[in-house]
Amino acid sequence: MLQRLNDATEWDIIIIGGGATGLGTAVDAATRGYKTLLLEQHDFAKGTSSRSTKLVHGGVRYLAQGNIKLVKEALKERGLLLKNAPHLTNNLSFVLPCYSLWQKIYYGIGLKIYDVMAGKLGLGKTKIINAKKTKELLTTIDIKKLSGAIIYQDGQFDDARLAVNLAQTAAENGATVLNYCKVIKLVKASDRPEQAVNGFYRSAKEKICGVVVQDNISGKEYALKCKAVINATGIFTDEILQMDNAAAEKIVSPSQGIHLVVDKKFFPGSNAMMIPETEDGRVLFAVPWHNKVVLGTTDTPIESHSLEPKPLEEEISFILHHINKQLDVDIVRTDVKSVFAGLRPLVKKGASEKTALMPRDHTIIVSNSGLVTITGGKWTTYRKMADDVLNKTVVIARLEKRTCVTENLKIHGWVNQTDTKDALHFYGADAAGIQALCIKDATLSELIHPALPNIKAEVIWAIQNEMAITIEDVLARRTRLLFLDAKAAIEAAPGVAQLMVKEMAKDNTWVQQQLSSFYAVAKQYLVA
Ligand SMILES: Cc1cc2nc3c(=O)[nH]c(=O)nc-3n(C[C@H](O)[C@H](O)[C@H](O)COP(=O)(O)OP(=O)(O)OC[C@H]3O[C@@H](n4cnc5c(N)ncnc54)[C@H](O)[C@@H]3O)c2cc1C
Repeated sequence: MLQRLNDATEWDIIIIGGGATGLGTAVDAATRGYKTLLLEQHDFAKGTSSRSTKLVHGGVRYLAQGNIKLVKEALKERGLLLKNAPHLTNNLSFVLPCYSLWQKIYYGIGLKIYDVMAGKLGLGKTKIINAKKTKELLTTIDIKKLSGAIIYQDGQFDDARLAVNLAQTAAENGATVLNYCKVIKLVKASDRPEQAVNGFYRSAKEKICGVVVQDNISGKEYALKCKAVINATGIFTDEILQMDNAAAEKIVSPSQGIHLVVDKKFFPGSNAMMIPETEDGRVLFAVPWHNKVVLGTTDTPIESHSLEPKPLEEEISFILHHINKQLDVDIVRTDVKSVFAGLRPLVKKGASEKTALMPRDHTIIVSNSGLVTITGGKWTTYRKMADDVLNKTVVIARLEKRTCVTENLKIHGWVNQTDTKDALHFYGADAAGIQALCIKDATLSELIHPALPNIKAEVIWAIQNEMAITIEDVLARRTRLLFLDAKAAIEAAPGVAQLMVKEMAKDNTWVQQQLSSFYAVAKQYLVA
């Protein structure tokens, strides 16, 4: 795919950013038949898109705010994603503990409405249960003062694996998708020659007609021509807006959310817990995921942003305090297997009111140069966001109009039935390919680390089929070791490096560089 950058031909659409938004847009653009290129500066989903709470949801929070249209749209997207990527998603029961009859009525009615709003794509009926039944479902919950609970259904997924499968879906439909390629410049041309009008020069409008991209592995630069550029860079949105126009107003204010991952023994069983309101009015979840439990999240406005945001001490204490309040066991810092932080690209209120072209959770902005920016939204609605931004881009770049076909598009790996007991079920149809590697070489069925079910063949598969280039790609986003158990991931890294060095024909210097950069990242996921 990198070689295609040497062709002098013009791309219809270049997408900057390989998170949920950019990858969804690449799938949509490629399946509409546009010549599509997606450029990601680091790895796919390195940014916010690997750091979510892993929920495919309508957003109960929006329902409480009365934003019915938004919830309805997200519930439709939830249903579509569960159908189109069954290997990566599942229907999950959420238990919402209640401490008074009033809470049972209030949340019970709210969540019944949530269920009804999903219509045919609903995942199951909302029920009200008593305290005894609640204790059976959440065995570690503190039953004192508990009046009962509401059980409702929502969706769950593996975010980074969905990102990788979307990249594959886009590529299979003709798109070129590249990780480790950073856009460093936007190229512009006048939309008409300078000309005198009534003796005065009318300055020509500068329109975007290409980008300069740097291959972050080789350092090589490419100048590429295109008809349209879409900025889907999440928390980096302002950097691209200012690359386009140095005076552009900043529109994004990042808000950090962290998650703690703990052992399943704190939440045995298969149900999630939802705390609808913490002391300061936030929603908190405990969600079973890959045989561990994800606790989160927080909402902390921050000044600066990075690809590897740092969890704050007070965020860790906040989550432990509120989760422990519900339980009759105590989760302490040393029980935390991994902590990860993500940044929401929240659009500043003024900016979204002034510039939003649609009243949605996401914001689309068209700059004078023709640059189309999309930001905000959530993973659940990535497909709808892609549809919206492409409809806008087609008009702006005067591309031939073509209809969106992603509503029923099967995502790479789609299978009719998955056996969730099979450790490889997240690969869907690709599981057979991984098993075939093990048949060729029996050592590849060995575990990467004794604490987790991932096998060595997954490393080889990730290199050969999923564009994994670094140890971090393998341990953080192709497998999820770093997010599930940071200490295990650190211990597994030398073994993974040995598999990679052979498969990729690298040398010892590469191994040393890779290990030291992986350790630098991974130590942030440890809670000391
Ligand atoms: C704590 C938290 C929990 C969440 N939980 C959920 C949830 O449970 N369910 C849900 O539906 N949503 C959830 N969300 C929201 C969801 O994760 C985000 O809406 C989504 O991941 C944003 O994707 P994105 O593609 O816009 O941004 P990103 O994933 O950040 O992608 C932007 C990409 O652009 C790349 N980039 C930047 N500059 C350049 C450049 N110059 N050249 C090339 N590439 C560049 C970056 O490297 C990055 O990979 C959560 C968000 C947070 C923060």
